[in-house]
Amino acid sequence: MIIILKPDLEDKEKTLGTIRGYLEQFPGIKVRLVELQGETREVTEVHLIGPTQPVREDVIEHVPGVERVVRVSAKYRQIGRHDVDLVPIGFKYQGLTFDQDSLHVFAGLCAVETREFAEEIFKNLQSLGISTARMGAYKPRTSPYDFQGHGAKCLPWLFELAGKYGIKVIAMEVLREQHIDEIFKALDDAGRPTGIMLQIGTRNAQNFELLKAVGSQKELPVLYKRGMGLTLEESLNACEYIASEGNRNIIFCLRGVKSQLGLPHRNIVDFTHVPVVRRLTRLPVCVDPSHSVGIKARGPEGLLDIFHASAQGVIAGANMILVECHPAPDQALCDGPQALTMDEFRKFVRDVQVVREAYLKRLQTYSQEMMNDMTRQ
Ligand code: PEP
Ligand code: MN
Repeated sequence: MIIILKPDLEDKEKTLGTIRGYLEQFPGIKVRLVELQGETREVTEVHLIGPTQPVREDVIEHVPGVERVVRVSAKYRQIGRHDVDLVPIGFKYQGLTFDQDSLHVFAGLCAVETREFAEEIFKNLQSLGISTARMGAYKPRTSPYDFQGHGAKCLPWLFELAGKYGIKVIAMEVLREQHIDEIFKALDDAGRPTGIMLQIGTRNAQNFELLKAVGSQKELPVLYKRGMGLTLEESLNACEYIASEGNRNIIFCLRGVKSQLGLPHRNIVDFTHVPVVRRLTRLPVCVDPSHSVGIKARGPEGLLDIFHASAQGVIAGANMILVECHPAPDQALCDGPQALTMDEFRKFVRDVQVVREAYLKRLQTYSQEMMNDMTRQ
C-alpha cells in the first residue's frame, strides 16, 4: 500500500504520527518513507510493507494531510507504476535530469586501457557537447586470462581527466561491494571532479548481495543491466532489490538477451521492451546497442547495425544510450569489434538526434490524433 501525502504539509510529522498510531493494531507492517522529486512538486510517499490486507484505505484517506491511498500489487512495489497516476521516478544527479522524458548518451571505452585513450574520448565528448561517459575499470571477463581492467589504480587520473573535460557522470561497472568504497575514496581524493553512475553488469544481474550494496547507498545512481538469460520480470525484481534498500535512482538498461537465434548479432536485441519497462515501472530506460549487436556490420544503405538498433530504442522512447567507442578499436583490450571509431561516433550522435526528433514528432502527432477523436465525439 502506498499513502501519498499532500504537498507542502505544514506538519508532516503529525500526519505520520496519526498513520503510525492507526497501524499499531496490525502487526508485521513496516513503514518506509520515500521522498520523490516530481516534475512540478516534491512528493512524500509512505510505503506499507507486509500483511496490509486488513488495513482500511478509507480510514487512512481521512487522516488530515493524506492526499490519497493506492493499494499496489505485490509486484514491483517500489519501482512499479501500479496502473495509477503515481509520480514517475526521475532524479537529478550532477545537475542532469534522468527521467522517462529525457535522453542522454553515455559513450566511451569498454575498458579503460591508457590515459591517452581516455583523454581522447573525453575530448571528443566535450567537442560534441556531451558530458556523460562510460568507462570500465573493473571488467568481468569470460576467460580468466583476459584483461580484467586496471581497477582502482586508474581512478585518480581518470577522474581528474573527466573533470578537465567537463564530464559530469561516468557509468562504471562494479563487481563487488569493495569497488563502491574504492570509487567513493577516489572521488573524495580527487575533490569530486565528476560523478559516477554505478553499473550492475548483466553477469551480476541476480547477485543479490551486490544489488543490496548499491541500493543501500543513496548518493550514486545505479544503471542496472538486464540479465542476459533472465526474464524481464526477474530483472525488474532485481531492480526492486536495489530500490527496497533505499536507492530509487535507478535506470533500467536493455542490452540484448543471449541466444544463437540472434546470430550474426551477439545477442537478440530486446529494445521492443522499451515501452514495456516504461509502462510497468517508473524508471528511465536505457538501451545498449554495443553489447546487444556486438559487431560492426552495416545495412546495404551503409548505416551500422548498431545505429539501427539504437534507433529502434530511441524511436520507442528510450531515455539513455550506453555505447562503446574507441580511438583505435583494433588496439582495444576488450570488445574492440563492437567499438565505434570517433568518426563513427560523431555520425552516431547525429543519427540519434534525427531519431529523437522523430520520436517527439510521433508523440505530437499522436496527441493531435487524440484531440481530433475527442472533438469528433
Ligand atoms: C559493459 O557495459 O561494460 C558490459 C560488460 O556490459 P554487459 O554487462 O551488458 O555485458
Ligand atoms: Mn564491453
